[in-house]
Amino acid sequence: MAAARFFDFRMKDGSRNFADLPEIVFFEELRLHARQLKGAIETDFVTDWVTEMWLDISFEGHKFSINNQFGDFWFFVEDPDCPDEILLRFYSHFKVLLKPMDRFAYFGGTFDPVHKGHLNIGRLLAVRFRLDEFYFLPAFHAPHKPDRPPTSAYHRHAMLVLATESDPKLRVSTLELEKREKRYTIDTLADLRALHPEDEIFFVMGADSWNDIRTWRDWENVLLGVNHIVVTRPGFPLSTDHVSDAVRERIVDLRSDKATSPVNRSDADRIYFTDAVIYDVSATELRTDLADGHLDRKDDVPAEVAKYIEKYELYR
Ligand code: ATP
Repeated sequence: MAAARFFDFRMKDGSRNFADLPEIVFFEELRLHARQLKGAIETDFVTDWVTEMWLDISFEGHKFSINNQFGDFWFFVEDPDCPDEILLRFYSHFKVLLKPMDRFAYFGGTFDPVHKGHLNIGRLLAVRFRLDEFYFLPAFHAPHKPDRPPTSAYHRHAMLVLATESDPKLRVSTLELEKREKRYTIDTLADLRALHPEDEIFFVMGADSWNDIRTWRDWENVLLGVNHIVVTRPGFPLSTDHVSDAVRERIVDLRSDKATSPVNRSDADRIYFTDAVIYDVSATELRTDLADGHLDRKDDVPAEVAKYIEKYELYR
């Protein structure tokens, strides 16, 4: 459930603060449902991206703006003499239009085993993208390696549960495990949309997966219908040469050295590039090193996972 947030109503120059108006104080966090708003009232989208949005609005002859910063909404009025009744009407109007919208991220992979690279991605993206819940989405099948049998989905799931236990936002989805078969992402995304018809979904992948995206079944449609977050990964330079212009147009590059101007289209499914997390570890290397007796590699997994690996003699 979304947390309580502060709503404030003030003059842009700070000269008058309406925060003491009775209703305009605290209430449950609401997310701006831009599509609904756009159709309902004359609006002018100034910026619109994942963490910040400005809307300029004319209402009963007065100019207002709403600024959404990281989920906190600030109501501004241009006119210092705007009567309080109009402020309250404006506020009541938007109270209805501002619709709660939860944000969920799903991070697909084999997690064989889950490591600190995966976990850092979950923790940092939950903050950066103001997610309500971040789900690890383990695949039922781990790719078969010639030198050892695949790790059971039960073990991979158990390690994820242990690794996420103490963080309320990090969760494990059993969606693919319950299907008990290889799932294509395109089908999983359809399931996720059915599960969260009213909410925002972000599908997360590392740079290596992004670079291979054209090998995914129905890849162009995979990139539609939900937002995507592509996380940089050491050793895998992020490329955009392999995707079409139509896909490239929807990329919002949030990497610090390349931040683009915010996207103005609120109804497009976006693909965010972020370098919020940089942790050089790979599950394949981890398994190989553990099998070779390099027990120091256990530092790359949480302590509970290291104990689990030892107890069940995985990756020997
Ligand atoms: P392997 O080394 O066997 O490929 P992995 O560490 O990539 O394993 P997966 O479970 O296959 O683990 O990865 C799930 C997702 O996590 C993939 O999209 C992958 O790109 C991403 N990922 C894994 N490790 C990192 C990392 N250190 N930084 C960024 N992304 C990562």
